[in-house]
Amino acid sequence: MNRLTCTKCNRSYSPGEKIWKCACGGLLDLEFESAFPIEKIKSRKPTLWRYREALPISRDQDILSFDEGFTPLVPVDFDGRRVWIKQDHLFPTGSYKDRGASVLMSKVQELGISRVVEDSSGNAGCAIAAYSARGGIQSEIYVPQNSSPGKLAQIEAYGAVLKKIPGSREETARAVWTAAQKDYYASHSWNPFFFHGTKTFAFEVWEQLGWKAPDTVILPVGNGTLLLGASIGFGELLEAGMIRETPRIIAVQSVHCAPLAKAFREELKEIPKIQPQDTLAEGIAIAEPVRGKQIIEAVKKSGGLFISVPDREVKSALRLVSRKGFYIEPTAAATVAGVLQYLRNSDPEEIIVSVFTGHGLKATEKMLKILEEPGTA
Ligand SMILES: *Cc1c(COP(=O)(O)O)cnc(C)c1O
Ligand SMILES: [Zn+2]
Repeated sequence: MNRLTCTKCNRSYSPGEKIWKCACGGLLDLEFESAFPIEKIKSRKPTLWRYREALPISRDQDILSFDEGFTPLVPVDFDGRRVWIKQDHLFPTGSYKDRGASVLMSKVQELGISRVVEDSSGNAGCAIAAYSARGGIQSEIYVPQNSSPGKLAQIEAYGAVLKKIPGSREETARAVWTAAQKDYYASHSWNPFFFHGTKTFAFEVWEQLGWKAPDTVILPVGNGTLLLGASIGFGELLEAGMIRETPRIIAVQSVHCAPLAKAFREELKEIPKIQPQDTLAEGIAIAEPVRGKQIIEAVKKSGGLFISVPDREVKSALRLVSRKGFYIEPTAAATVAGVLQYLRNSDPEEIIVSVFTGHGLKATEKMLKILEEPGTA
């Protein structure tokens, strides 16, 4: 089976159609039958494309890649406990968003599309811009006007057209929505092909642990691009009989913007409207995640839970991992703060995997500010 299906009205489409949402407006999911021929996988280069039979791109010549992925999985000691950390801050553009962008932009190439639009102020924009450059595809990235100049420099350097939109994040979303009526929306939250790239996180962890799934994965959640990808990935491994059980998924949000943690805790049917506050973990501060219900469903189904972390804990987690020699951005440290909370009540035998999502070099201004605070040096 290989088709796009609507999560709202169940209508299905061929994956060859140039669409990113259903005619009814609903979100699309991709149903794709993956295979995992282990000997073949082992014989290939150490990139995320080694799981070739699990990636929904027909022809090799359409693949847009920098030989990314297969990032190191290293054991790190936290409070005397070993946690396996996937170093996804080491991707070509400095975040795991390259997983999604490589597969999505390869699909764009396969569809023969020459121009895409995307909205982001950060890492997703960088990744889409870089893979567009790799394929000679034009990209237009919509960003809030007040986004930090550092992140915008990277997007612009790749040759993307930056569209700076005055006002809130929601206004930027509205502007790209209008543009997406005529140009293909290479969206990291709407487009299902993005999630079929981020799912390679699960495949790599499975291989790096000796073809085994961990007991628990601890992942950040704003729009859930990594969390839903991991959930799809472990689901496909289970379906193919490669693992016996999928891991528990622990989802980490910032307390300053935690609509999903609230919905989970209070068992709400709808994602609540919240008033987001400023947070150091700006990369996961998403007040209205379009796949919110899917995310809660995935966490529930896995037997997992939500954790929320305040900025104070993000800062101390950032300090802790920096002193271990890892340089990650503050948003990435929120996940580490979640790991530290989780460890307080966990089983010592548990095999736990987490992730460094973004590189510290992306956030120099913020790092300087944190270092200047008393007691931080
Ligand atoms: C994208 C991103 C996340 C996760 O955000 P989602 O909105 O859930 O996709 C976490 N950390 C960093 C550094 C990111 O760029
Ligand atoms: Zn529909």
